[in-house]
Amino acid sequence: MNRKTAIDRIRERSTPWDMLIIGGGASGAGVAVDAAARGLEVLLVEQHDFGKGTSSRSTKLVHGGVRYLRQGNIPLVMEALRERGILRNNAPHLVHDLPFVVPNYDWWEAPFYGIGMKVYDGLAGKYGFGKSKLLSREETIERLPTIEQEGLRGGVVYHDGQFDDTRLLIHLLRTAVEQGGTVANYLRVTGLLKGGDGFVRGATAADAWSGEEFNLDAKVVINCTGVFTDDVRRMDDSAVATMVRPSQGIHIVLPRRFHPGDAAIMVPHTDDGRVLFAVPWHDRVLVGTTDTPVDEPSLEPVPLAEELHFVMRHAARYLSEDPTPADVLSVFAGLRPLVSSGDEGDTAAVSRDHTLQVSRSGLVTLTGGKWTTYRKMAEDAVDHAAPLAGIDPPPSPTRELQIHGYHLNSERLGHLAVHGYDALEIQALGAADPSLAKPLHPDLPITSAEVVWAVREEMAMTVEDVLSRRTRSLLLGAAASIEIAPQVTRIMADEMELGPDWEAAQLKAYVSVAGGYLYPGSVGEL
Ligand SMILES: Cc1cc2nc3c(=O)[nH]c(=O)nc-3n(C[C@H](O)[C@H](O)[C@H](O)COP(=O)(O)OP(=O)(O)OC[C@H]3O[C@@H](n4cnc5c(N)ncnc54)[C@H](O)[C@@H]3O)c2cc1C
Repeated sequence: MNRKTAIDRIRERSTPWDMLIIGGGASGAGVAVDAAARGLEVLLVEQHDFGKGTSSRSTKLVHGGVRYLRQGNIPLVMEALRERGILRNNAPHLVHDLPFVVPNYDWWEAPFYGIGMKVYDGLAGKYGFGKSKLLSREETIERLPTIEQEGLRGGVVYHDGQFDDTRLLIHLLRTAVEQGGTVANYLRVTGLLKGGDGFVRGATAADAWSGEEFNLDAKVVINCTGVFTDDVRRMDDSAVATMVRPSQGIHIVLPRRFHPGDAAIMVPHTDDGRVLFAVPWHDRVLVGTTDTPVDEPSLEPVPLAEELHFVMRHAARYLSEDPTPADVLSVFAGLRPLVSSGDEGDTAAVSRDHTLQVSRSGLVTLTGGKWTTYRKMAEDAVDHAAPLAGIDPPPSPTRELQIHGYHLNSERLGHLAVHGYDALEIQALGAADPSLAKPLHPDLPITSAEVVWAVREEMAMTVEDVLSRRTRSLLLGAAASIEIAPQVTRIMADEMELGPDWEAAQLKAYVSVAGGYLYPGSVGEL
């Protein structure tokens, strides 16, 4: 995965790509893997960095969706549970079984959630994770040592999957490249190209670094732009009705002492009737989320004061120590691309979860869904798009396709476990030059070797790419990540042979973005 190689390939291309994918999040990366694995010549372009949109901002769960079970949406839950199992088989270094405990404070909760979770186990069938069971009050406290004990009667434990969203994203993109695909970040689609027959035949794109403009000819174009879906649909037809309405969800990140247990906490009914999670992740605790409609899509959504109060209030209600703003290590917001409606007459709605639409001019739009179901979404999209390109591809092989990094015992690789087999090469960088193996900050699991690796092998172009998405430093400690930004900038500048102007601009840009991840009011001296 090398940007220069990708841009050279794009520049030298004289025949149309079989498929052009716009958007480098879960949906786009999934389509790139599926199409490339079926032998198609595929190009994926992302306007910013891979995962800058929603796909880096999830709750990090690979789950069937207990919420959908409560709504009685059984087919959706079954599809997600199946995908959960497939993903764990194909990326065991990234997806692992996590117990979730629903603490019970009312008499009816144990039978109600106990039966519900048995149904959840049953729906997973052969793709099941661990079995659910009822817990006594003592067992609940053993699993959740810091749970609020006043009025606690017991709990129900069930199992779901957990992952690192951007690590999976990067590994999917690497898989796509290994299958012959081409991917490039910082290449923004600015318009669509149409043939004399009015069919979409590619797109124009601009390189954010060089300013160079490209005509990307393609037999079919797939719009995987999340909350920006309608912007691209309007490049095709300025009169189309709005299809996607963004809904914001935020998380706070707390030190592990707030919830040192190995199980996650699942609160099935918050004040606004939603579910809330407190999930152990990379030795921190993620607490969220919210559901707030917003008007405009944005690449850097901002948590609202009422969302912060809501999450802090619920954290205080369920944890024995009430977190204060000073305890919050990071705050991040993401936008769900919720599908409100589509144009009638030209759609192919394949699943109740995600939406696949083909416009009259042949633009394919894939949106909605969730991280967990990205593989199935991608398979559906390629099945529908390939005939539009005049291609009759073989069936998707992705149910059994190992994802880059595949490693069965990665837990023994320490904090590098999520890198799977790449961890050995990162360790080798540190062995060859011990200065690279030292942690950059006492509170963050990041070494210089990971920075070098991200630049050399994973198309990291900016300090933010490294600190937010190649490593998770920004989410694990926004203030600490700002402290190490100068060192990271230095290492990157050396590696990329860039000068002091680049360094100064990068540092400024990073401090500005990372400031938005500090709990408001705890900003302090930057
Ligand atoms: C708060 C929250 C929590 C969630 N938690 C979970 C969870 O725990 N588990 C789960 O399964 N799912 C979860 N989801 C859902 C999941 O994160 C999303 O469904 C998924 O990430 C959407 O991916 P996407 O590729 O469709 O969109 P995105 O990730 O937003 O990708 C779209 C990309 O298109 C790019 N783009 C836009 N316009 C252009 C252009 N003109 N040219 C080039 N590129 C362009 C954008 O920059 C962006 O990177 C959560 C969502 C939210 C908001």
